[in-house]
Amino acid sequence: MFCNNHSGIRKDQVTSKPLFQYLTDFFKNPARPATDDIGAYRDYVQQHGPSVDVVDGGKCNEKAGALRREGNRLYLKKRFKPALEKYNESICWALGDSEDLALGYANRSAIYYEQGEYELCLANIALARKHRYPELLQPKLQTREQNCKQKIATGHSRCNYHFSALDFKAKVNDKIPAVAKDIIMKQMPECGRGLVANRAFKVGEVILHEQPIMAAIDTQVKYLNCDFCSNENFHSLIPCPKCPSVMFCNEECLENGQKYIHRFECGISEKLHHIRSDDYLGIRMFFYGLSLFDGNVGKMIKFCKSRPKTEVNPLKLDFKNHDRLKEFELFHRVENNNEGYCDEEMYETAFRFLTAIYYKIYMTQPQIKSIFVQRRYKNFMLSSLLDYMRTAHFMAIGPGDKYTEQLFSFASLCNHSCDPNTLSLYWSGQLKFVVLRPISKNEEILISYGPLYCEHTAADRHYLTTRMFFECICDACDPISNAFTFKCMVTELLYPALADMHMCPNPAIMLLTDKLRKLRNDIEVYSFVHPRDDFYAVLDDYRQCLTWAFVAEIDSSLRAKHVR
Ligand SMILES: [Zn+2]
Ligand SMILES: [Zn+2]
Ligand SMILES: [Zn+2]
Repeated sequence: MFCNNHSGIRKDQVTSKPLFQYLTDFFKNPARPATDDIGAYRDYVQQHGPSVDVVDGGKCNEKAGALRREGNRLYLKKRFKPALEKYNESICWALGDSEDLALGYANRSAIYYEQGEYELCLANIALARKHRYPELLQPKLQTREQNCKQKIATGHSRCNYHFSALDFKAKVNDKIPAVAKDIIMKQMPECGRGLVANRAFKVGEVILHEQPIMAAIDTQVKYLNCDFCSNENFHSLIPCPKCPSVMFCNEECLENGQKYIHRFECGISEKLHHIRSDDYLGIRMFFYGLSLFDGNVGKMIKFCKSRPKTEVNPLKLDFKNHDRLKEFELFHRVENNNEGYCDEEMYETAFRFLTAIYYKIYMTQPQIKSIFVQRRYKNFMLSSLLDYMRTAHFMAIGPGDKYTEQLFSFASLCNHSCDPNTLSLYWSGQLKFVVLRPISKNEEILISYGPLYCEHTAADRHYLTTRMFFECICDACDPISNAFTFKCMVTELLYPALADMHMCPNPAIMLLTDKLRKLRNDIEVYSFVHPRDDFYAVLDDYRQCLTWAFVAEIDSSLRAKHVR
């Protein structure tokens, strides 16, 4: 599932299928608004649709039972992951405190037992017992529980292997613990704000470690990932008590999900899943903001109007203590400079149309309907949705995998290059930036939003960056400077091939931590031959090893949370 930036882009990612059809029909319709006024788009959608008539139903034990039996068939064939998904779906459809709910958890515990995830198995047995697990079947559960405990007692727990290889941490900023000290924000002449090194950074230094301010998942993983934080949590999820459409990692995510987002989406989730676009994060940010004012629109309007968009330098603010309202304010004030976007007018039109569809769907939700009665409130919602959608798009840096999306307050300050000096790693709610090539003082810190010089052709890179609304002007893409090819030629002439200098004993049998250290050292020493092909081979190896190490580190810390 995991793919860091260089392999995670699907060509159909920008628009889901139904939405693509709605957009196509819209652009063909001569009646579509010929103005910038978002109100005209609202009227258009009211009149011409699309009417998103997907049904948001209630829980149903009959359906839960049928899904569980499907899961059982897959379980017998030892197809554990699809079986787990069916059990999750069954759990989500089951009525609260019903036998069906308990059976779903119990069956899920059987899968974790088979997979050797004993702590998760025990957690699911406890969930089954907490609900109405039938007396008659209790002995079966007891046997599994005893077996689990015995496995753990005899040292078979996966939690015994704690992994941590990315410990080459740079000193952090006094006021912003997510970012390394000596990283500053500057206005770049061609691409707006960007991050710059205020001292030299070494290969392997972790210079950013951030958690998302907002996340969202694709409909295809609604029974596999958390609706609030977007994580998988080994797929051991608990359902929304009211609807059969969303699940959460645990009680904490359920509580936060209900408090900040889902209370405004419960009952319309299927419709939202149906039209979900990449820009949904911006839409969610509006309702997140509303929840921070406890649904009081008047207060929210006052707050937003008194904080106009301006050039705020987030790295100068104080984020020592996590403050949701301050984080929201930062998002609200981002100046999304759209100038220079490719096909700007077409995308703007699409944004307005999309906003109007989202507006129409949210206005059918009982909570929202009761809050947004005044015309002034409705107009505020409409214009904010559009504004936040643009901002989220502007802030996107393309982490996540192909089914999840996240928004980051600080990481989003980093600009893109197809030949980045820094690797962005994302897995299960954690984002880290690791220095890939030596960075000198005053050099810009650059990550890839997806396209990579060593993996994509110039045409593919152009296609991908255009979808993200920009024309890449990195060294590898700039046809005018030619500096890249020239530097390559010079190092070809001056230095021998890297393979002769690169004395890795037998990388395949080296321990991952040793290999990381060796590669880190090699890159530091031989960086002068960049951008030659043989140097990229070493970089690629390093990137891969960092990815493995990062996933292992996060998974082992997640597992540790299940130890009771
Ligand atoms: Zn979660
Ligand atoms: Zn719900
Ligand atoms: Zn480029």
